[in-house]
Amino acid sequence: MRSSNKHEIIESMKKRPHLFILGAGATKATIPNGDKNGRQSPVMDNFLQEIGLSDLLKEVILETQSNNVEAIYSELVENPKYINVVTEIENGIVSHYQQMELPDSPALYDYLILSLRKKDCIATFNWDPLLIQAYNRVNKITSDLPEMLFLHNCVEVGLCEDCKRFAPFHNKICPECGKAYKMPRLMFPTKNKNYSQDIFIQDQWRVLDYFLQNACIITIWGYSAPDSDLDAKDMMLKAFSKTFRKLDQIEIIDIADKDILANKWEPFVQETNYHLNIHRSLLDTLISEFPRRSIEGYTKRYVEGWWGNSTLTLKECMSFSKLRQLFEPLILNEKNNNYNVI
Ligand SMILES: [Zn+2]
Repeated sequence: MRSSNKHEIIESMKKRPHLFILGAGATKATIPNGDKNGRQSPVMDNFLQEIGLSDLLKEVILETQSNNVEAIYSELVENPKYINVVTEIENGIVSHYQQMELPDSPALYDYLILSLRKKDCIATFNWDPLLIQAYNRVNKITSDLPEMLFLHNCVEVGLCEDCKRFAPFHNKICPECGKAYKMPRLMFPTKNKNYSQDIFIQDQWRVLDYFLQNACIITIWGYSAPDSDLDAKDMMLKAFSKTFRKLDQIEIIDIADKDILANKWEPFVQETNYHLNIHRSLLDTLISEFPRRSIEGYTKRYVEGWWGNSTLTLKECMSFSKLRQLFEPLILNEKNNNYNVI
């Protein structure tokens, strides 16, 4: 390969995005002891008990033996007799998540968002507002932050169906037409996940497709391999497929047993030529070694053949002023269009 040609390939590679895909485990890891007020992020099994709504089920007769809220909801939705119970469950879930708040000191979501840039993307399956709260906190340090996608909607998203625009739900009113924002629907029956009728979700998945095709690194955090959700399964197969995208590296962050994880991801991993790393924590991944420079660092090491180490790595900070200080050298360089690893 001519050296100028190789140089061009390396430079164009560095411009590719880093895509993060977040599941329930990511929020759990961000607030391991509950949120600011001790509120937990529930999991799908035992969900109604955890958020104090299990009494609602005393009024209904269910066929499903499952404790999974999606299974229960899917069955209730099909029975017109239970329309009020369905509404109460929907409202209870929204209200639980709307009250969730990040603790005051920097949390993993703050580190994650600040460690990526505008060309990158975080796509989450979570309904909670914590990612958006973190975005607003680190936005005070720099506005060059990743795009965020909410693949199953989020309680902090407000939607104007007339103008087809969305904004933070707490802004309340659409500035174009003056109508109140609607919160996109959170729950869909599993048998018939009619996402195609939801313009917000449709738009989010369309953008995700761009990132799946172009990402140089995909990191999947706290998300179990999907079995029942067909859209999600299709998306994962795309993410791992070498025919769909020129695959470089996949990282998985999960605290489950390594053998269980390896089994679970086996059908996907074959496609990647085993370019897969499994980590226990966000702080062990490429963004931690190369914050705001993950693709640059990866390219420098694995394509250009660099043997050095980054001198600026992610570490836990007790305050936002410490976090700002840590990132300052990188952000200063960015003002001069310098995105080199330091
Ligand atoms: Zn509007």
